[in-house]
Amino acid sequence: MRRSITAATAIAGVVGHPVRHSLSPVIHNAWIEAAGLDAVYLAFASSADGFAALVEGLRGGVALGLNVTLPFKQQALDMAGWADDSARRAGAANLLLFGQEGAIEARNTDGVGLMAALAGAGHEPSAGPAVVLGAGGAARGAVLALLDAGVPAVAVVNRTLDRASAIADLDPRVTAHGWDELAAVLDGAAAVINATSLGMAGQPPLDALLDAAPVTCVVMDMVYRPLETDLLHRARQRGHRTADGLAMLIGQALPSFEALFGQPAPDLDVRAICEAALAGRP
Ligand code: NAP
Repeated sequence: MRRSITAATAIAGVVGHPVRHSLSPVIHNAWIEAAGLDAVYLAFASSADGFAALVEGLRGGVALGLNVTLPFKQQALDMAGWADDSARRAGAANLLLFGQEGAIEARNTDGVGLMAALAGAGHEPSAGPAVVLGAGGAARGAVLALLDAGVPAVAVVNRTLDRASAIADLDPRVTAHGWDELAAVLDGAAAVINATSLGMAGQPPLDALLDAAPVTCVVMDMVYRPLETDLLHRARQRGHRTADGLAMLIGQALPSFEALFGQPAPDLDVRAICEAALAGRP
C-alpha cells in the first residue's frame, strides 16, 4: 500500500555534497514502511557552502534530524550544542538530532557501523593489530572505534604522512606509516581496513598488495560503490574473510534510525533491498 504524506508526516534525511547516490534513503524508508511510521527520509543536496543554512532551516521542529555525509561531518559537529563522546573524539558527526526548541545534538555512529561490519566477518578485536589505510575523517573514527573495542595496536598508512601522524598523536597504540611500509605493517595483522576513497567508482583503484597479510587477516573496504571492490575481490581469492562498505553503512544506520525515530529498526533484510538498488543504478 502506498504511504500518504500529510502535514503530520515527520521528516528526517541525509545531507551531503553530492548526495544523489546515497543509499540512506533506501535503508531508512524501508524501515519506516516496515514499522508503519508516518515519516519520510529524504536526501538533501547542499551546496558546498550551504550546509549551515540548510541546518538552520530544518532545526527547531521542522525535521527530526539529519544524517551527515561528505564533506560536512566536521562542520556538523561544530554546529552542535552537545556532542556524544564518539563525535567529539572523532572530530566529526554523522548524525544531528534536532530538539523542538532549536537545540542540536551531534552523534557519530560510524564506529558502531565499522565494528558491526567487522564482527559480521568474524573479526575478534583482541586477535591482533589492525591496519587502517587512509587518514581522513573516516580513518580517524575507525582508529578510535578499533581501540575502544580492544584492538591492541593500529598502524595508519597514508599518502600524506602528516595526516597519519596527527592520528597517531591521539594514542600511543597508534603508529603512522607511508605506503612504502605497507608490507611491514600487514605482517601479523588481524584486520586491514580501506578508509581511503581509492577503489570507489570514478576514483583510481587501490593498488595495495595483500601478500604480506596472513590469511587469517579480515579485509574490509569502506567503499560500497562498487560493492565488490578490487581489494575485496583479491582478498577473497586469497582466502581472507571480508567485510564491505554496505555492511558498515547499514551498521551505522541502525543506531541512527533508533535515535531519529525513537524505536529500533524493524527486522528487515535491508541489505537485499540495497543490493537491488545498487544493481539498478549506473
Ligand atoms: P577524506 O577525509 O576525504 O579522506 C580521503 C582519504 O583517501 C585520505 O587519507 C587521502 O589521502 C586518501 N586518498 C584519496 N585519494 C588518494 C590517492 N589518489 N592516493 C592515495 N590516497 C588517496 O574521506 P573520508 O571521509 O575519510 O572517507 C574515506 C572513504 O570512506 C570514502 O570512500 C567514504 O565513502 C568511505 N566511508 C564509508 C562509510 C560507510 O558507511 N561505508 C562511512 C564513512 C566513510 P591524503 O590524506 O594523502 O589526501
